[in-house]
Amino acid sequence: MDRVIVVSACLLGVGCRYDGRKNLCKEVVALKDSFFLLPVCPEQLGGLPTPRPPAKIYGGDGFSVIEGEGRVLTVERKIDVTSEFLKGAVESVKLADIYKEKVVCVILKERSPSCGVKTIYNFNSDTLKQGKGVAAALFIRNGYKVISSEELEKIKKLKREFK
Ligand code: SF4
Repeated sequence: MDRVIVVSACLLGVGCRYDGRKNLCKEVVALKDSFFLLPVCPEQLGGLPTPRPPAKIYGGDGFSVIEGEGRVLTVERKIDVTSEFLKGAVESVKLADIYKEKVVCVILKERSPSCGVKTIYNFNSDTLKQGKGVAAALFIRNGYKVISSEELEKIKKLKREFK
């Protein structure tokens, strides 16, 4: 198949979330007839186990982290997992780069500290703020078109346009 979409693996039914669960999204799975769906889980690719302690970005968003300003810390024990998050983002982009010319877009799971496209969680509360996850920021920095898992109309449009 000569059209590729890079997808957060949890959206395709992989149990790679921090709590071992998945975020199956039927609208994303439905794209499989028209595209090669390349699953990536930046947190697993960064070497973190599943399940793993939940983590959030401290100080800014994914762009701050890739610029060396923000950090990623586990919520409870405040363990610094910035290097794992950065490694996972780099490895995810490397996988996408294998198909670079064929990649139509990247669909990432909203609100995740790795994959969030429009919103991520504030470090000190369960409220949301505008911002990107670390992998989302690196995909954008590398010129990829990134779509949120919650932009269902855009996702359905991809299926209509590339039947
Ligand atoms: Fe899903 Fe991304 Fe979290 Fe992996 S890092 S579980 S792909 S949201």
